[in-house]
Amino acid sequence: MEIGEKFSSVVLPLVGLHPSFASKGDADLDKVREIISKSRQRVVGMGEIGLDQRYVRGSSGAWQKQLSVFQTQLEMAEAAELPVNLHSRDTAGSIIAMLDSYQIKGAVFHWFAGDEKTMGKALDRGFYISFTPSITYSKRVRTLAKACVPELVLTETDGPVPFWGEFRGVTTRPPLVKRVVEELGDLMGLTAGDMARQVEQNAKRLFLGK
Ligand SMILES: [Zn+2]
Repeated sequence: MEIGEKFSSVVLPLVGLHPSFASKGDADLDKVREIISKSRQRVVGMGEIGLDQRYVRGSSGAWQKQLSVFQTQLEMAEAAELPVNLHSRDTAGSIIAMLDSYQIKGAVFHWFAGDEKTMGKALDRGFYISFTPSITYSKRVRTLAKACVPELVLTETDGPVPFWGEFRGVTTRPPLVKRVVEELGDLMGLTAGDMARQVEQNAKRLFLGK
């Protein structure tokens, strides 16, 4: 929120409790609720929120907690009419099924890692798919990008995570997104300039309702 305030022309803040922190739970959810109610004019979405079994390591109690934290946040997003940025590692299919029970304003699957069929279900519902620098070297991600539609793509750096290929050992910083746009354009048959304009339009539509 502070960075968003300082650089308000380029940074749009989202708030949410990431699934890796779900076990802490309720006090943090209260904080998220408080930020949204106090700063509703500035917050443009909720995220990253989502589901990830790897954070609970087979503990069914912790998984139930993660599920309930996610559901509570979907309710909050619904009530505040905010789009959501979803963390969906190995859970995209279940998340899409869950979203059918909510009136969510919009959604983006960040670093989507599901299969093509699941991606199709997300696109059918008008959800966005976001690509990271892994698009420059992952065959699987490149195949997904080819099957995606320009009007429903976004780009990101995620991070800090180790990327490979040309980004091996490179610190994750926003300028990396330029290469993501170039590669995405290449795979979708658009020039880098047209792809950049399309991604900008998509982001404004999703987060600013423009
Ligand atoms: Zn994530």
